[in-house]
Amino acid sequence: SNVPTITLNNGVPMPQLGFGVWQVPDDEATAAVATALETGYRSIDTAAIYENERGVGRALAASGLPREELFVTTKLWNAEQGYDSTLRAFDASLERLGLEQVDLYLIHWPMPAVDRYLDTWKAFEKIYADGRARAIGVSNFQPAHLNRVLELGGTTPALNQIELHPTLQQSVPRAYHADHGIATEAWSPLGQGGDLLKDPKLARIAEKHGRTPAQVVLRWHLQLGNVVIPKSVTPSRIRENFDVFGFSLDAEDMAAIGTLNTDTRLGADPDENN
Ligand code: NAD
Repeated sequence: SNVPTITLNNGVPMPQLGFGVWQVPDDEATAAVATALETGYRSIDTAAIYENERGVGRALAASGLPREELFVTTKLWNAEQGYDSTLRAFDASLERLGLEQVDLYLIHWPMPAVDRYLDTWKAFEKIYADGRARAIGVSNFQPAHLNRVLELGGTTPALNQIELHPTLQQSVPRAYHADHGIATEAWSPLGQGGDLLKDPKLARIAEKHGRTPAQVVLRWHLQLGNVVIPKSVTPSRIRENFDVFGFSLDAEDMAAIGTLNTDTRLGADPDENN
């Protein structure tokens, strides 16, 4: 496919554009993922808490695509943090996905008040050492949480998946990740399709390139080096969000989008979510 890859810190290549399935019910996930795979997406982002790992797994199996062409990410839910419970939860995710290995396994949230993410990370290292995840990483970790993981002196997380879109540009975490060889993956890359996509500056840039605001936003992420996982269940949008490699934004466009930052979260604050 025409999707560029980034190289994770352990050498594993990851498609820079993938398909997210949050809020897609299990029975609809199969059709949505099938459409994504037919479109050319090869990276799928799910999580145990999305309760659609079985539906995703059915689409992967039915696609007939060789396993090595797929990049499957899932996440450990908060309630399962801790060493033994993580190992059990991982087994259950693999069973639901119908896979023997995932490409990327993430701790979904740090849950700092619960303070089990270091033990959880040690279980992730065991899963990685056993070859059952090709890479391990985290999600929603702030630099302070990453510092503690790095202080363990073991495996550096390959990636941190954080809320990131033009209204929450996350310059501090992005710089931290760059300094430590951790890839940045943007969740809700389209700002959940809300007011962001109606912004007049984005509309002007989209018109200039003969593209849609969603395509402009995805292009902005890609040019910054972010991994993106836009979600849609609408086939035309699934295709639209994949068709972002035939144009590029110039410095003026990038700067204009840069001015849209308001540091506004759509989701939970990682320091407070427990
Ligand atoms: P998103 O930014 O991808 O927006 C998705 C919504 O935008 C769609 O439901 C639709 O309403 C709209 N949309 C999609 N394509 C469009 C288009 N071309 N034109 C106009 N509107 C369009 O939001 P998301 O689903 O929250 O995030 C993407 C993925 O990130 C999720 O599916 C999930 O995999 C992941 N995620 C992870 C976390 C986490 O805590 N790690 C949290 C939220 C989401």
